[in-house]
Amino acid sequence: MQSITVKHIRLHPIAMTLVERLRTSFGEEPFKAAVLVELETDNGIVGWGESSAEINPGYSYETVGTALHVLSEFLVPLLLGKTINDATEVPALLDSVRGHPLAKHALEAAVWDALAKANGVSLAEAFARHLPPEHKPKGYATVGVSIGIQPSVEATLVIIEKRLGQGYERIKLKIKPDWDVQLAAGVRAKYPDIKMMLDANSAYTLADVEHLKQFDEFNLLMIEQPLGYNDIYEHSKLQPQLKTPICLDESIHSANDFRLALDLGACRILNLKPARVSGYTESLEIYRLCVENNIPLWIGGLLETGVGRAANLAFASLPGVTLPCDISATDRYYNPDITEPPFVLGEHSRIAAPTAPGIGVEVQRARVDTAVQRWRTEYPYRTMYNVVL
Ligand code: MG
Repeated sequence: MQSITVKHIRLHPIAMTLVERLRTSFGEEPFKAAVLVELETDNGIVGWGESSAEINPGYSYETVGTALHVLSEFLVPLLLGKTINDATEVPALLDSVRGHPLAKHALEAAVWDALAKANGVSLAEAFARHLPPEHKPKGYATVGVSIGIQPSVEATLVIIEKRLGQGYERIKLKIKPDWDVQLAAGVRAKYPDIKMMLDANSAYTLADVEHLKQFDEFNLLMIEQPLGYNDIYEHSKLQPQLKTPICLDESIHSANDFRLALDLGACRILNLKPARVSGYTESLEIYRLCVENNIPLWIGGLLETGVGRAANLAFASLPGVTLPCDISATDRYYNPDITEPPFVLGEHSRIAAPTAPGIGVEVQRARVDTAVQRWRTEYPYRTMYNVVL
């Protein structure tokens, strides 16, 4: 394996206009923000990573502001000048900083990309090298689509019809306590057989158990994260009372969290967002745990641009990812994205994983510049933080 030595790291805070905004139980953001990490090696190889933090501390406590601060002041200096043989060395290099998984993920992802490019392999191949030989990448990910909270059941049905027409075979609906049973009932009345699931984004408590039991009649693939965003214990009390499998998302920040969830019986399915668990090294450990314990696994999304989406597609093409992933085609999110070519939905609700070395898509510099300018123009915070560009 060819090693890399890290020469420069540049941070690009970006704001992207979404084709359709996504409304969840904790609100909606005006545009999609992120911090792109551009890592250059002493051989001139450029690796890209994405910290898909939001403007507000909603899904995660991290924001674009915290990502810029923690990356520029603390994390980037830990990698500059380092020679790295394997991207799985990165978590130990960043270990002196606690927390901030989305920021760490961006740096680790840039190292995965640069190392894969240095060695002429796709990211999917690079990931598979850390797994048993039977875990060869499939070349594609099976995907579904996530639908935000709409003004009415009728409006939701219109979007579902459109998505099914586009070829998506799994529909996920965002719910909240006053927008759940009537929604599921309305959709099931029109579509009794589609693969359907609900995502609550922690909008309920254990006191809602009788209410949540009503979902059992809708033949759902799963209900995602019904209880507290950091909770595992109460989910372990809820799961035995539901027929519907619980899928954990927000609560699982590490392989250790997931071991605890498995031990307590808190979930039967896992939504793995590599950024949420601080990167692909931790993701590979969680992947192995899912395989060992026969836990259905899928890869979630944080509305990543093409940089983050390409890498997640590569991970989602591994055979232990057994359920449809929240990685939709580019036209669902951005027009244009900052990478080329766009991701296109193929037959059987699949998207092909890139095969070129590294992330396998080309970052369009002019579009990155435009997105950085938009971030500066639309600047959503009261205080202007110093950022590294
Ligand atoms: Mg979720």
